[in-house]
Amino acid sequence: MTTIEKDSQYVLQTYGRFPLALAKGQGTRVWDEEGREYLDFCAGIATCALGHCHPALTSAITEQANQLIHCSNLYFTKQQSDLAELIVEKVVQQPGKIFFSNSGAEANDGLIKLARRHGIESARHEIITFNQSFHGRTIGAMSATAQGKIHDGFGPLFPGFVYSLLNDLEAVEAAITEKTTAFLIEPIQGEGGVKVATKEFLEGLAALAKKHDILLLLDEVQCGMGRTGMLNGWETIAPGLKPDGISWAKGMGGGFPIGSFWVAEKHAPLLGPGSHGSTYGGNALASAVSAAVIKTIIEDDLVSNVNAREAQIRETISEWDHPAITEIRGAGLILGIGIDTSQLSIPDGAVPSIHLCKELIKLGLLVPPAGPDTLRLLPPLNVTADEVSQALALFKQVLDAHQA
Ligand SMILES: *Cc1c(COP(=O)(O)O)cnc(C)c1O
Repeated sequence: MTTIEKDSQYVLQTYGRFPLALAKGQGTRVWDEEGREYLDFCAGIATCALGHCHPALTSAITEQANQLIHCSNLYFTKQQSDLAELIVEKVVQQPGKIFFSNSGAEANDGLIKLARRHGIESARHEIITFNQSFHGRTIGAMSATAQGKIHDGFGPLFPGFVYSLLNDLEAVEAAITEKTTAFLIEPIQGEGGVKVATKEFLEGLAALAKKHDILLLLDEVQCGMGRTGMLNGWETIAPGLKPDGISWAKGMGGGFPIGSFWVAEKHAPLLGPGSHGSTYGGNALASAVSAAVIKTIIEDDLVSNVNAREAQIRETISEWDHPAITEIRGAGLILGIGIDTSQLSIPDGAVPSIHLCKELIKLGLLVPPAGPDTLRLLPPLNVTADEVSQALALFKQVLDAHQA
């Protein structure tokens, strides 16, 4: 049986996967089981921040694996305390405390629990989230996600979420009730199509939060840790923002599973002893690996490369002046290329973005879609100028071949 046949027999068929079995990775390149090479502009969905098998990552894994992998959160480890210090002091740079999870959805569940605790004394429990958001697949994070297709068949949802409109402050103000305890927002929506919250909107939310004693919670799971060209996604948009809570996962592990959330110092007592936990969360191995990834992002100044590569991508694509490209959304290396599907000949019944992704795979480029008419570029933060040129040439080749 091939890998793909075995998957269909033994793995629960929850994923719409591309027909590709990967066996090896190095830097921005991956190889399939037949040894075919691909440029990886998916990077594990914005996860492999340093590319594949970066020496800082693999040596952190092997060294820590030989010392101590896991000992539960009944005991302290230097690796976990050091990582918490690194995130608070070097990434957020605002006083607060960190909880470690294993994924983004779990980190968001933690923020949801924080919001519930914040509202408990005033009998408030509603959290406002935004259309087309994506916060993960646990019951809590799924219920926070304002996309019907994610909820389909799983109701009743976890109660207390109110969905409002991104970048529409009036709608948000109208959605606030005496039960509202928090806003939860992705500064740049990833799965929802790379939609960017505006500066006015984020600052407006912060002002409403202050006025109504509502928590401002940021989901930086996809856009955080350098991906936007700043260490924090919100800084790219509204640098002075003072959030109450922030969640991360994806890029902070460089491909190793870890997530976390930060709580501003003044709210930290809301989640005291016994209130929350995770058996694996922040174990010695995951923490050592994440610290190595974040330190490399900072010490190698990868955000400068992110900004340079973003400029290169925008310049190259605007020079094409291609009729099938409507716009480039996003910031840094979380970019959504909007496709005018009426300009392309796409086979009947095919989802345009997925069809284009499959054609790109044939040419040796991996990119993920984001909705039916957007392709996402999410290469490693250390992708080179040459790799960007090669990937964009393949991208143009596919668009040209599909011109209507
Ligand atoms: C991927 C993602 C999540 C969920 O993370 P998991 O690790 O898959 O649980 C949550 N929020 C955003 C913005 C994401 O992109």
